[in-house]
Amino acid sequence: MTSTAEIQVRGLHKSFGDNEVLKGIDLEIGRGEVVCVIGPSGSGKSTLLRCVNLLEEPTKGRVFVGGTELTDPDVDIDAVRRRIGMVFQQFNLFPHLTVTENLTLPQRRVLRRGKAEAAKVAAENLERVGLSEKANAYPASLSGGQQQRVAIARSLSMGPEVMLFDEPTSALDPELVGDVLAVMRMLADEGMTMMVVTHEMTFAREVADRVVFMDGGVIVEDGVPAQVIGNPSHERTRHFLSRLL
Ligand code: ADP
Ligand code: MG
Repeated sequence: MTSTAEIQVRGLHKSFGDNEVLKGIDLEIGRGEVVCVIGPSGSGKSTLLRCVNLLEEPTKGRVFVGGTELTDPDVDIDAVRRRIGMVFQQFNLFPHLTVTENLTLPQRRVLRRGKAEAAKVAAENLERVGLSEKANAYPASLSGGQQQRVAIARSLSMGPEVMLFDEPTSALDPELVGDVLAVMRMLADEGMTMMVVTHEMTFAREVADRVVFMDGGVIVEDGVPAQVIGNPSHERTRHFLSRLL
């Protein structure tokens, strides 16, 4: 862990109407750190992740990414969001575009890159996720695992400083999960700052620098994997983990 906080969440609250989903979250993620967020369904994991790139607007509290405050009303949110990649459970690829076109379109629209440069960046990132041979394929001809790797390559093509993953393997058949996790492990090894909501405890144990356990809109436990997964200090964590195994 380095001393530079890449992601900082301070006193974050989020309500939907009367339903307070996040009840005061404080979290710091250092540059190059990989943090896995675990916890039961409905505990607020997705909402927290979505607040980190302001897909949801916090009710109270502050969020910083790379030293820029996203919750500052004067911030250029589109500019900050470009620095944050997000990968969802559903891959959201355009079905009528080829793999390469899925990767070049956002680069051209959002970053205003020229055709040749966008194509070059797309090819580099397809190679990183091991899918160079699928450059001209359409999403429907790919497996779910391949589609998710394309979605990761699309995100990487935007040159993010931080990658957020929301259960990236939950929609996949079990035999396809490994290839996606391998790509995420490669990113972690390369020093990408990552926040990963996942139920993959082996990945969390082996790849995460820290594991955060959430329940009921609060962080119950935050520590190294050997502690939070291996030897949790809270009953709620133990109960959650016992149901996974
Ligand atoms: P998790 O990802 O841990 O399963 P979520 O963050 O998706 O949890 O959801 C936490 C709670 O917030 C749930 O009760 C859910 O119904 C509620 N919630 C999430 N998004 C919305 C929304 N857009 N509008 C209303 N309620 C929401
Ligand atoms: Mg969720």
